[in-house]
Amino acid sequence: MGRLPDEFALIARYFAPLASGVPGAAGLRDDAATFVTPPGFETVVTTDALVEGVHFLAEDPPGLVARKALRVNLSDLAAKGAKPTIYLLALSLGPRVDEAWIASFAAGLEADQSEFGIGLAGGDTTSTPGPTTIAVTAMGALPRASVLRRENAKAGDTVFVTGTIGDGALGLSVLKGELGWLGAAERDALVARYRLPQPRTAVGPYLLGRASAALDVSDGLVADLGHIARASGLAATIEAERVPLSPAASAVLAREPGRLASVLTGGDDYEILFTMPSRYFDAVSTSVAKSGVPITAIGRMAEGTGVIVLGKDGAAMSLDQGGYRHF
Ligand code: ADP
Ligand code: MG
Repeated sequence: MGRLPDEFALIARYFAPLASGVPGAAGLRDDAATFVTPPGFETVVTTDALVEGVHFLAEDPPGLVARKALRVNLSDLAAKGAKPTIYLLALSLGPRVDEAWIASFAAGLEADQSEFGIGLAGGDTTSTPGPTTIAVTAMGALPRASVLRRENAKAGDTVFVTGTIGDGALGLSVLKGELGWLGAAERDALVARYRLPQPRTAVGPYLLGRASAALDVSDGLVADLGHIARASGLAATIEAERVPLSPAASAVLAREPGRLASVLTGGDDYEILFTMPSRYFDAVSTSVAKSGVPITAIGRMAEGTGVIVLGKDGAAMSLDQGGYRHF
């Protein structure tokens, strides 16, 4: 072979340094890691895989691919209110991966580990004749029995969302060669948002004990609100005008209002969508203000089923509410 050093050398060179802050990882020189959940806390665990050709392209910068693989998992932890602790990394490396790819991949992980306060505890490394696959399993901690679920929204709760919606979907449109009229800075901002999710780990823990239901928006705002509504046995109504937009997304909609549907249903937002009695809003937004992430009320939960999106004119919009499906 010779394309890559043997797996033990790869692990020692590139992955063991990422485990140096995790005592139970034993320097990645043992069969398994240990992890202690402090008394009164519980561990939240989640996994998400990225597949070459489906979630990223072979020529994408490996550091960005690594960070996206980690961040989509961090976004799930944030939505459950958990603080990141450790992660596991299972790699199936395809024919185009060489040592330089691994080196940049590991550097991307290192950058995000320090940004989000998480360490590597173990993993698996294999080669495959097929597409490269990166499976991350991430763990986080929260006080016992406080996890935010999708199913506990109450009629009368307000629907809130963090950050801004639609940038990821519009960024993908830019990458497909659309929106050529938009300024370069705006185009870059949208593409950056598509390429690199910004998991709201600084917000999630403040929602504990206040939000009634939460999830992270990956399938699209409308489809994901549908998940909360269905799980909670309720209906949700949101006002399109209230959905928070970045300056770049606002510029797009000012000129191409028809793109509102893709903003509302496009996905890849990685914001937290949550329901909460409105009386908690001041406390939560004050706590979260330090993180610089805004929280916006966009609608309300009520008895019934389904999601209604009210347009500017106050009439219900008709949208494809399905969200992205692999099968
Ligand atoms: P086993 O033979 O028990 O499957 P491996 O030889 O696969 O163990 O792995 C040896 C050690 O290296 C283990 O601690 C494992 O967790 C770690 N490891 C292997 N691949 C990775 C990876 N991609 N990232 C992090 N740790 C890894
Ligand atoms: Mg073993």
